Amino acid sequence: MSHTLKLAIGTILLSLVVLGLKLVAWQMTGSVALMSDALESFVNVATAIAALVAIRVAARPADANHPYGHHKAELFSAILEGVMIILAAILILRDAWHGFQTAHPLMAPLQGLLVNGAASVLNTLWCWVLIHQGRRHRSPALVADGKHLLLDVVSSVCVTFGVLIAIVTGWSWLDPAMAALVALNILWGGWKVMQHSMSGLLDESLDDATLAKVRGVIATEASGAFEAHDLRTRAAGSATFIEFHLVVPGAITVTDAHAMCDRIEAALKKLVKGCVVTIHVEPEDKAKHSGIIVL
Ligand code: ZN
Ligand code: ZN
Repeated sequence: MSHTLKLAIGTILLSLVVLGLKLVAWQMTGSVALMSDALESFVNVATAIAALVAIRVAARPADANHPYGHHKAELFSAILEGVMIILAAILILRDAWHGFQTAHPLMAPLQGLLVNGAASVLNTLWCWVLIHQGRRHRSPALVADGKHLLLDVVSSVCVTFGVLIAIVTGWSWLDPAMAALVALNILWGGWKVMQHSMSGLLDESLDDATLAKVRGVIATEASGAFEAHDLRTRAAGSATFIEFHLVVPGAITVTDAHAMCDRIEAALKKLVKGCVVTIHVEPEDKAKHSGIIVL
């Protein structure tokens, strides 16, 4: 089992324990804010499982049915995450609304907060493990997971303080107000995830900075060619596709043109890890004089 897989499974198991603790805390207190905190954890568990399945599917090599690979499976799980987040936010906002209308005192508030606090401590420890391991193994994904979890801890701690203040002051509106804040926070996170996966589903091109580097590599590596044009790039999950037309002297051999393409391809693969490059070779009368001029 790979190291990343072990950590991913660890995250899921720990999130299940944290979810259990938060559900207990909610049942003990009847607090809407603690319910929203538990629901946020539920979304985390569900999306962690979906992401694990998606990453494994996405890593499968291309086959007869899916000649372009399975990279977009990762985008599916992100869309699923977005849908779940929106459902969770609607549930929380509905209960917060009820809470505003009919204020009810919290049951066993301190015990509930202690259980919720224990969940936060567990989460914080796991954040530290993820970030530490991520830095050690140079995995930005792990570090990002750790930082995401850290945000959850921060929101949990805010909720705990909110409920604490509600208990001390007797301001019962503070409980649904905290819940509504959690709902908005979840929605914001969900929106960012959806936005990212939407651009992947719509075959968004590489960012401008990378695109400029791709042009630079073609301009310097394609010596012997005249120009390149109709450059198109797209990213699907972790895969990147680059394609363009390469204008070469019509009299050179197919072998020479192919060698030229292989050289550019190798350089591009060094620039964008694991990219798939398709080059269409053309003679000089097809030049558009508007593309990348080869140096
Ligand atoms: Zn062309
Ligand atoms: Zn070839």
